[in-house]
Amino acid sequence: MKNKAQLLIVNARLATLGGFSARPQRGSDFGRLGLVDNGAVAVGAGQILAAGPLEKVRAEADVSAATIIDAGGRLVTPGLIDPHTHVVHAGSREREYELRLSGTPYIEILKAGGGILNSVAAARAASLAQLVAQAKKSLRRMLAFGVTTVEAKSGYGLDLATEIKMLQAVDVLNQVQDVTLVPTFLGAHAIPREYSENSDAFVRVVVEEMLPAVKDMAVFCDVFCEDHVFTVAQSRTILQAAKALGMELKIHADELAPTGGAQLAAELGAVSADHLLHTDTEGIKALAASSTIAVLLPGTSFNLMTGRYAPAREMVEAGVAIALSTDYNPGSCPTENLQLIMTLGCLKLGLTPAQVLAAVTINAAHALKMGDRIGSIEAGKQADLVIFDADNEAYLPYHFGVNHTWMVIKSGRIVYSNCEEDYCCEN
Ligand SMILES: [Zn+2]
Repeated sequence: MKNKAQLLIVNARLATLGGFSARPQRGSDFGRLGLVDNGAVAVGAGQILAAGPLEKVRAEADVSAATIIDAGGRLVTPGLIDPHTHVVHAGSREREYELRLSGTPYIEILKAGGGILNSVAAARAASLAQLVAQAKKSLRRMLAFGVTTVEAKSGYGLDLATEIKMLQAVDVLNQVQDVTLVPTFLGAHAIPREYSENSDAFVRVVVEEMLPAVKDMAVFCDVFCEDHVFTVAQSRTILQAAKALGMELKIHADELAPTGGAQLAAELGAVSADHLLHTDTEGIKALAASSTIAVLLPGTSFNLMTGRYAPAREMVEAGVAIALSTDYNPGSCPTENLQLIMTLGCLKLGLTPAQVLAAVTINAAHALKMGDRIGSIEAGKQADLVIFDADNEAYLPYHFGVNHTWMVIKSGRIVYSNCEEDYCCEN
């Protein structure tokens, strides 16, 4: 018996991204969209029942009672995935932005109470409800941009109570709104003032007190591995301890200097290494030979005006699997707009429109270890879909700075719509 579809999307330019549920796209496969013109998707019980040419979909699913959504030739993609964010945070730092624009050196900004420790003070002072309310607003924006899954890091607490509060906020957010959040513990995001003279003592706190307390609250453990923050040796200590507790690993690596963070990620079998602005040939080789995904964050380089971007072309040529993300946070990249990051992926990283689409769908899913459930339009996957008011994938990054979303479907439900039609839009 065929499964009953509740929704049937017809007349779509489908970018299925199919065939890569077991492994990310890399090398000459990177940017394979699995396009189907005049395509259809049948959705039932929150899942994709069938996708492809309409005849095939009719043959594989019972569409007799389905609500029909005519995409009118528009581009239909998997729900976008943002695999590196600090969406849970308190306050904002536009004063620091003004100082930066006037040429004030970062060290002066730090002395004036700016920088990450400003966000730490704000997160410590915020209530759980305040953290949830602020992030909920951002997640509504992300959903409007077509984003259906987001990684969310702790890391503005740097003490156990606040780190737990941040991870609790992620848990609450998963219950009160539509975007799926994947929690990451980033207790080693910066060295708190209390330990500024003794970072090894703080590493011990992370390993001995924090990790055992948060191991069941987060899927991933992440570390800010950088000169003057956590050294490669300290990062290894933290990540090995997390791995021993059954956590998956991520690393903020080589953002400010080539420290060997990419090699460390490959060595430890980290799911992703993120930033990688200064990763050298050795680091690229190590990533290419590993299953670690390079999560690139061009919005951060853009906003910090460093002029330096990750060597994405070199990485693609070497065979590194690449995903893209906003790095949404109140300091270095205050934007929820993953579509804008796709534009920067083309203009600043030299990727093609097809590659940036793969980088925010199937490869981003693999950067969260969820390639088997989301990131492509294939039977059996969660029905997370976006219909863009665009004829093709190049139009998205080309017409930049605006929102092209026409409709968002999350787990089979229409959760956002910008269309004129009278579908069962819930907003
Ligand atoms: Zn980050």
